[in-house]
Amino acid sequence: MTDVFVRVAVDQPMHVLFDYRYALSDAPAVGLLVQVPFGRREVVGLICEIAATTEVPADKLRSVTAVCSECAPLSEAWLALAGFGADYYQRGLGEVALPALPQALRDASRWSRLFAVEPHYRLVPEGRAQLPDALPARASALRRLAEALAERPTLGLSDARALHPKASATFDDWLARGWIEPATLEAPDMPESDAPSIAAPLPVLTDEQRDAVEAIANARGFAPFLLHGVTGSGKTEVYLHALAVLLAARPDAQALVLVPEINLTPQFEAAFRARFAALAHGSIVTMHSGLAEGERARNWLAAHTAGARIVLGTRLAILASMPKLAMIVVDEEHDPAYKQQEGLRYSARDLAVWRAKQLDIPVVLGSATPSLETWHQAEQGRYTRLTLTRRAVADAALPTVRLIDLEEERQRGRASVEGLAGPLIAALKARLERGEQSLVFLNRRGYAPILSCDACGWVAGCPRCSAYAVLHKPERALRCHHCGWESRIPKSCPDCGNIDIAPMGRGTQRVEETLAAVVPGARVLRIDADSTRRKGSAQALFSDVHAGEVDILVGTQMIAKGHDFRRVTLVGVLNADTALFSHDFRASERLFAQLTQVSGRAGRAGLPGEVMIQTRYPRHALYQALTRQDYVGFANSTLAERGDARLPPFVYQAMLRAEGRTLEAALAFLEQAAAGFAPLPGADRVTVYDAVPLTIVKVFNVHRAQLLLESASRAALQASLRAWQPVLRSLKGVLRWNVEVDPLDV
Ligand code: ADP
Ligand code: ZN
Ligand code: ZN
Repeated sequence: MTDVFVRVAVDQPMHVLFDYRYALSDAPAVGLLVQVPFGRREVVGLICEIAATTEVPADKLRSVTAVCSECAPLSEAWLALAGFGADYYQRGLGEVALPALPQALRDASRWSRLFAVEPHYRLVPEGRAQLPDALPARASALRRLAEALAERPTLGLSDARALHPKASATFDDWLARGWIEPATLEAPDMPESDAPSIAAPLPVLTDEQRDAVEAIANARGFAPFLLHGVTGSGKTEVYLHALAVLLAARPDAQALVLVPEINLTPQFEAAFRARFAALAHGSIVTMHSGLAEGERARNWLAAHTAGARIVLGTRLAILASMPKLAMIVVDEEHDPAYKQQEGLRYSARDLAVWRAKQLDIPVVLGSATPSLETWHQAEQGRYTRLTLTRRAVADAALPTVRLIDLEEERQRGRASVEGLAGPLIAALKARLERGEQSLVFLNRRGYAPILSCDACGWVAGCPRCSAYAVLHKPERALRCHHCGWESRIPKSCPDCGNIDIAPMGRGTQRVEETLAAVVPGARVLRIDADSTRRKGSAQALFSDVHAGEVDILVGTQMIAKGHDFRRVTLVGVLNADTALFSHDFRASERLFAQLTQVSGRAGRAGLPGEVMIQTRYPRHALYQALTRQDYVGFANSTLAERGDARLPPFVYQAMLRAEGRTLEAALAFLEQAAAGFAPLPGADRVTVYDAVPLTIVKVFNVHRAQLLLESASRAALQASLRAWQPVLRSLKGVLRWNVEVDPLDV
């Protein structure tokens, strides 16, 4: 018998595959998951190559201990996608491929349970007639079983056992009586109440929407589209129509739809399920970090076996295995949430375009405020631009944007109350009287960002970070937003004993309090990371808004994105000025997008919408462009500035970040790294900037610094970064370091 060897990728920061002997009875195949000994542990890895020989000496060579034959091999195309991600973002293949799999698949001890076909049962008409009346009156566990069967399309044995320990014997009995029958899990019947008997009438597309749908539906091969549509222009409807055409034309095709935020998935899921009600329930699956492990694994497998026709997910779904993938949609493509900020620092939007190119399929990037990277591609003619200039709902116009000049208010003696200017308060009251909703946006959570002592100048700071501790009033705590440190609010100044320590500045909690006081009778609701900590609570809060149980919604960017609020007619913006003077060159692009997004929540259903932005700089070009709703003007002038200053997208960047016990250690590491970079191939075409401390230099007692690299040639940057890896790995002296390609925060 000839020996077989396999080369396996494991989740380790190494750019190599590991050789193992393969002597299991099931045949090996590229793309299969295996369990292998690694060091002193057993880990799950992925077969990337099969070989007849190995360089590893026989006494060092170890054997594959298990293979997951039940899971069809990952395709060549998927492995190539993971390989590209690894190459481009300077990681090992295993570091990309394995974390992309659901946890349950990465633990060999769970394989058998994952693939064991659990028996499922459902009621038949005879059972519906007999149960629960035929049961003894006091048999409560049996009644619970009968109820569960009546309520759900099918009931699995493990769920049934949780209701009644003797479920298995009971089911045998009921099977014999002809009350229930075995059901398959893969295609559960839709419960009748869920399947609308009359399909909701499709909206008549606007001319612009129809043109966009036609362009996408007629596309052949790789076709990147930028769907540039103002807020409320009905981009979702374009996706739905384009997908409907695709799924009808090709009964096996799959589509991937990405949304930036977990909170937006329920709204999308509902729209997709309603539109594609004819598809079996399991044909639409979601993929995001909020799913329970089991559900995540089931959904992943549904996509992997092509049982799921539509996958709706957040950025991590871009690495889903979808063998019949035929279209990708990236909604709100400009959103920074598409960039993963830890581990593999990938851009799901960029990977989406690569994947579409690889598979020769269309990709639709939708936004009211496209990223300048995407806008640049469209300007260059590389992406086809589809434009929606008007709101879709008849009579719904874009809101008017008004700037409230805080300086002028002050000069005229019209004092603001706790940071809310008079005109905004008046507008809020008018909405309350008319029974319309308002939204107040500020990008800062907590009560106040600073707690300080007037007498001696003491300021509450985090003991572990170079940052202020934020005052949280309802939680009665000082909290650090960087490391999670928390303490009670001191009653007096810890330095001088003064009891008049006072909050400075305001966050959402304080504005919530002020609104309740200045707009009497208004039902005020706050939505931010603090008020939505519990799982599912964000969903409940948003439902209250949709149900009209809220008059004024105050919150952070969580309320700005994507939500289709039908009754909001006023949007107030506080505290936007701080972003105008950021040292990050992307700050203004981000602010423009954010303010356009939040403005877009107003006036969506026909009632005129109004936006009021409080500012000290009403003549700033960004605000002026906003009042004109002029994304194009803003984008083109900002792009021109970027071109003059040689900034992305005209150059390519990478960032090396280091974390040390001291700032000196972090900086020294970066300087050695820079010295080691200079002789590398391609380095002469790359500019290496000086190592600098991060703005918040210390977080959780760790000191952070960064080194920026920049080149006009992506190829030169990529080549030199690759050659740099061994140099970086040989350096010592820091706790951690990482390289980020195309960093968003510079
Ligand atoms: P966007 O994502 O572009 O901001 P949405 O897709 O949320 O906009 O659509 C805004 C609203 O317009 C939604 O309530 C949607 O149901 C409605 N809508 C979309 N297209 C049409 C249409 N052709 N006719 C009527 N209403 C539409
Ligand atoms: Zn003091
Ligand atoms: Zn801290």
